[in-house]
Amino acid sequence: MNINYVCHECGKKYKPESLVFRCECSGMLDLEKFEVQFSQKDIVQSEWSLFRYIKTMPFGEDFSLWKDISMGEGLTPIVPLEKDNPNVLVKVDYMMPTLSFKDRGAAVLIAKAKELGVEKVIQDSSGNAGTSIAAYANRAGIKCDIYVPENTSTKKVKQISSHGANVHLIKGNREDTAKAALTAVENGEGFYASHVYNPFFYQGTKTYVYEIYEQLNGELPETLVIPVGNGTLILGAYYGFKELLDLGMITKLPKIVAVQAEGCAPIYKAFTEKKSTVDGVANMGTLAEGIAIAEPKRGKQILDAIRDTDGEIIVAPENKIGETRRYLAEKGFYVEPTTAATFAAFFDYYERNKDHIKGKVLLPLCGAGLKAD
Ligand SMILES: *Cc1c(COP(=O)(O)O)cnc(C)c1O
Ligand SMILES: [Zn+2]
Repeated sequence: MNINYVCHECGKKYKPESLVFRCECSGMLDLEKFEVQFSQKDIVQSEWSLFRYIKTMPFGEDFSLWKDISMGEGLTPIVPLEKDNPNVLVKVDYMMPTLSFKDRGAAVLIAKAKELGVEKVIQDSSGNAGTSIAAYANRAGIKCDIYVPENTSTKKVKQISSHGANVHLIKGNREDTAKAALTAVENGEGFYASHVYNPFFYQGTKTYVYEIYEQLNGELPETLVIPVGNGTLILGAYYGFKELLDLGMITKLPKIVAVQAEGCAPIYKAFTEKKSTVDGVANMGTLAEGIAIAEPKRGKQILDAIRDTDGEIIVAPENKIGETRRYLAEKGFYVEPTTAATFAAFFDYYERNKDHIKGKVLLPLCGAGLKAD
């Protein structure tokens, strides 16, 4: 399939072969609309990874590079958080090869990079996306440079370098790290395998929704709570919902309740101020380092997605993250602080809204506890 990138701002098209990562107007690139196939017979029943949904992705019939790269990512369990409340479900998305949901996007993006003949990738992250890209790039035989902020958990740094990547520890905040990676890309050092910029990453994260659809026999929960930093899971989920709607497989979009960290909440701020674009904020510090993105590049798209689902955005009370992490561990789920933050925000929201929350709510367990120092 010859699909183009299309600029979200000006509509200009680019071929992925051009290896551009943003438009010359500096707009973010999306993929052109393409035909999605998703029915019982389109699901590759013999494939026990997210590539069972390959017909929902913009690849040709003969595209098979993923077979050498996949590590069985996806197909994570959905279980009730507590035995006496069947309406609050969790999807255990840290049950992935590198222990976070980012493997969904990385598996698809690296398969695409391989098809493009890329020999070296560059990426920046607060840790988990870097780990995923490093693992899949190495498996694909692609060299890899990962940029992370200096204060990234030593365990994540070790995980990234164990996968054979070159780790660059960058002084300053997450935005300084992004700038350092961008400079390397602009100097021609490699292909920017960014989970933020590259739209193929979202073709992987959208499988979150296709799985839920298949696992719950087509009955999507009324509400999906999703943490938001750069928006890779929320936008992927939104694309999945829209496709199901277009295919006539659902009649209404589930409501998205997005979660940001109290100390770094630019999208929350724009949403509550009823703005249509997101201005950067200063990161005041948070334990939820995985969602502490002060200047989200796809902020406007995230706002539009939340509004389109009649959704909301809430913040995680910083002083509840620790106790929520212990509570989840008591339930059997050992998660990293960013994931505890999602639940801290949700419990607070649930308390305030329990009388009018209808139906089922589903939350992801995005990152494993062993990743935190
Ligand atoms: C990446 C990540 C998030 C946030 O995802 P975004 O794509 O930045 O919105 C949340 N939790 C964990 C554990 C992550 O790794
Ligand atoms: Zn443009």
